[in-house]
Amino acid sequence: MGFKVAIIGRPNVGKSTLFNRLAGRRLALVDDTPGVTRDRRVHPAKLYDLQFDVIDTAGFEVAAAGTLQARMREQTEIAITEADLIFFMIDAKAGLVPDDRTFAEIVRKSGKPVVLVANKAEARGAQGGLLEGYELGLGEPVPVSAEHGQGLPDLRDAVVELLGEARAFEDDEEEDDDVPAISETLIGEDVADPDAEPDYDETKPMRIAVIGRPNAGKSTLINALIGEERLLTGPEAGITRDSISVDWEWRGRAMKLFDTAGMRRKAKVQEKLEKLSVADGLRAIRFAEVVIVVLDSTIPFEKQDLQLADLIIREGRALVIAFNKWDLIEHPQEALADLREKTARLLPQVRGVLAVPVSAETGRGLDKLMDAVLKAHRVWNTRVSTARLNRWLERTVAHHPPPAVAGRRLKIKYITQVKARPPGFVLSCTRPDEVPQSYVRYLVNGLRETFDIPGVPIRMSIHASE
Ligand code: GDP
Ligand code: GDP
Repeated sequence: MGFKVAIIGRPNVGKSTLFNRLAGRRLALVDDTPGVTRDRRVHPAKLYDLQFDVIDTAGFEVAAAGTLQARMREQTEIAITEADLIFFMIDAKAGLVPDDRTFAEIVRKSGKPVVLVANKAEARGAQGGLLEGYELGLGEPVPVSAEHGQGLPDLRDAVVELLGEARAFEDDEEEDDDVPAISETLIGEDVADPDAEPDYDETKPMRIAVIGRPNAGKSTLINALIGEERLLTGPEAGITRDSISVDWEWRGRAMKLFDTAGMRRKAKVQEKLEKLSVADGLRAIRFAEVVIVVLDSTIPFEKQDLQLADLIIREGRALVIAFNKWDLIEHPQEALADLREKTARLLPQVRGVLAVPVSAETGRGLDKLMDAVLKAHRVWNTRVSTARLNRWLERTVAHHPPPAVAGRRLKIKYITQVKARPPGFVLSCTRPDEVPQSYVRYLVNGLRETFDIPGVPIRMSIHASE
């Protein structure tokens, strides 16, 4: 395996839960392999396309006598020594407690690369704990829910960003002297030009998922896109496909398409089918960078369509809407105006989202749909330099200052982009709790317009400044 990860944090933050998610189901398989003796303290783990070992902290025999705390501290220190990368976990629901700072200090002293993982992020009120995470000085917290499996694509991206592609995908069969040491990679990233091209690699397949309600036309659309009858369409159930993704190319650009439709057809009974479509939709969303939401234009924006869109937005993916079965629409101009108005009204969180009329059956509109997918992906990767952001902030706040609360003006001081995919910003200001949502929306809309970031989720956190 390429590298070793230790999950560190005070008790109860959810380390074992994440451990089990990363390594859990594969343990039995490994232990059953005859003739293979493995170090029991490390377990092979997988996070999408990343393969690594995860260190089982609890597996260490610890010599320290005395308190549980002393023993835990020693376990932690051994695990850190063995690790190439640390997942430092906090509980976003509970917020920071003094123990978090103690453990963070040990981690910081080790000098090892760290991903700050803010667990239980799905819980009500977790936003505050997430923001407190910045105080640890371990970088930007990655919100996840180990229990519900949410936020894992961002965790994967954080690992790749920290280690560099070469190290993240290294495997030990081919020892490679050219792989830069971790410290070199980090130094390289520090001096990177913030105005440089977005940090995505055009040679890697773009991950796309096609989701929507049953019968919206997903399979037909996928067939039309990949240009061959790779998937079987039609109403009959029980047809199985082994693979859950299809590789293809669009005008020379490599694409990987997650095939929920194929998975759904494995279901035999109606009830199971309904359940599967939701769970598969979720898996597809987490897999994808861009999600195409297929609507049946003759019955658009049903409740389930909106729920799916909402899920995509919450998971932070880029989305594009396909108004399918356009060949059945009698007054296309009026219909399009009506659907665009509904889109803007029902999905205000992704203002400017690209929505394209298509007919999967006749193939019309597919070029435009794929252009929209490429554009959404580009926008999703947007990075704006801190200098440009703050010049914009100054103008914007001067033009329309934040309201006074209880007679005192809020002071908005500074903005910076902390992540892409989707774009995430941190705003620092006095009394962050008092910034009205309407003002946050004003700023987010301003960011969209000024820096051309339409149609993708934008994350905005507000920090207290002194
Ligand atoms: P550890 O002591 O750090 O290994 O923590 P555990 O993995 O044993 O988890 C502690 C508690 O937090 C358990 O009750 C878990 O069910 C719960 N937990 C773990 N992950 C999550 C999560 O993502 N969300 C919520 N709400 N609870 C979680
Ligand atoms: P899925 O359940 O979302 O995968 O939907 P299918 O691809 O199986 O399509 C459901 C039905 O809608 C099938 O009878 C298709 O032939 C039909 N269909 C799909 N796309 C179109 C389209 O663009 N126009 C028309 N008229 N029918 C379509």
